[in-house]
Amino acid sequence: MTVDLLARATALDAADPLAGYREQFITPPPAELLSYLDGNSLGRPLQATARLVEQFIREQWGGRLIRGWDEGWLDWPLTLGDRLGSAALGAAPGQTVIADSTTVLIYKLARAAVDARPGRRTVVLDTDNFPTDRYVLEGIAAERDLRLVWIETDPSAGIAPAQVADVVGEDTALVLFSHVAYRSGWLADVAAINRIAHAAGALTMWDLCHSAGSVPIALDEWGVDLAVGCTYKYLNGGPGAPAFAYLRQELQGELRQPIQGWMGHRAAFEMGPGYEPAAGVRALLSGTPPILAMVPMHANLDMLAAAGIEAVRAKSLQLTDYVLALADEWLAPHGVAVASPRDPARRGGHVTLRQEGFRSYLEPLWDSGVIPDYRRPDGLRIGPAPLSTSFAEVYQGLAVLRDLIEKNPR
Ligand SMILES: *Cc1c(COP(=O)(O)O)cnc(C)c1O
Repeated sequence: MTVDLLARATALDAADPLAGYREQFITPPPAELLSYLDGNSLGRPLQATARLVEQFIREQWGGRLIRGWDEGWLDWPLTLGDRLGSAALGAAPGQTVIADSTTVLIYKLARAAVDARPGRRTVVLDTDNFPTDRYVLEGIAAERDLRLVWIETDPSAGIAPAQVADVVGEDTALVLFSHVAYRSGWLADVAAINRIAHAAGALTMWDLCHSAGSVPIALDEWGVDLAVGCTYKYLNGGPGAPAFAYLRQELQGELRQPIQGWMGHRAAFEMGPGYEPAAGVRALLSGTPPILAMVPMHANLDMLAAAGIEAVRAKSLQLTDYVLALADEWLAPHGVAVASPRDPARRGGHVTLRQEGFRSYLEPLWDSGVIPDYRRPDGLRIGPAPLSTSFAEVYQGLAVLRDLIEKNPR
């Protein structure tokens, strides 16, 4: 069976139309990195990124200095936002900005949303929302005297439309869920949930951190009102790269975000008295944009646009299918459970494996150059990024895990 699994990896790699992109990444020697299985937490850097960052520092920052602001930097939050909207989000131009962090953008957008629905006193979320989303909403609820309505989601699955239908109503200002659940990888039916929330008169907000750059997204078509996401996971922007926010065209002008800074002002450089928001999505900005940290996005968006998000998704499903096959063959006999959807229609870009005591394998895995993602208390997330991961790499990584488990039977 193991021979078949290896042959399958070889055949999949040989037939992979995206295989060539792997060479565009910075690749340490195998002793340091044998198998990177954490693309869902921090994407790998491109060689082009190293070149672009150096070039930016020498030529643009070093050469143009403050003139750079007038020569394009000030527009990067919007121009890069539009490019991201087109390559990954299904968003027409003028609705996406790059700014801040996901956490800060969740605050800005959620506050704007609940303030735009005065009289509605509840916000709906689920227990498997990412911690920062939950914490920010708890803060907003306290600040605005709102009540949070929690949907209990199965941590091995995720939010279902019927659960949303059960709790939304005329008192719901906003619903906030993750498109792909960070633990299980559950892929939510965004369009169906939006229809239910909209029928109740609520606004809808989606966290795209685990889907952007991995799963096709159609924000305009699905009727999403607001969305946020980070660019350092499947979008390879680098540790702490700035986030993105989407605000549907029809809501611009109506929603007012609370951090009224000069960069979101109608006329930032007049420095006049009193805040007046800029027209359009620029009003989501607050302070000086993190230009240096946006440089990698130019290279990443070139790559994603060339590869095509549909091809990325097709490979992603093959990769996670293959992870499931290896887990069933090698790990299930040792009591390792799959805590992710098997149905490809509901599966995002990663697979979570669970076993008590997984924590103890992390250090030996890292020492062998195998890097999955550990989630307390007992989950290993396997997140193979399609543009940088081969099937053989998945095979090698999970073989090391299998050997560790066999040597340390529970
Ligand atoms: C990674 C992640 C975040 C991270 O937010 P930061 O502000 O960048 O720390 C938020 N939400 C989800 C669902 C994530 O996966």
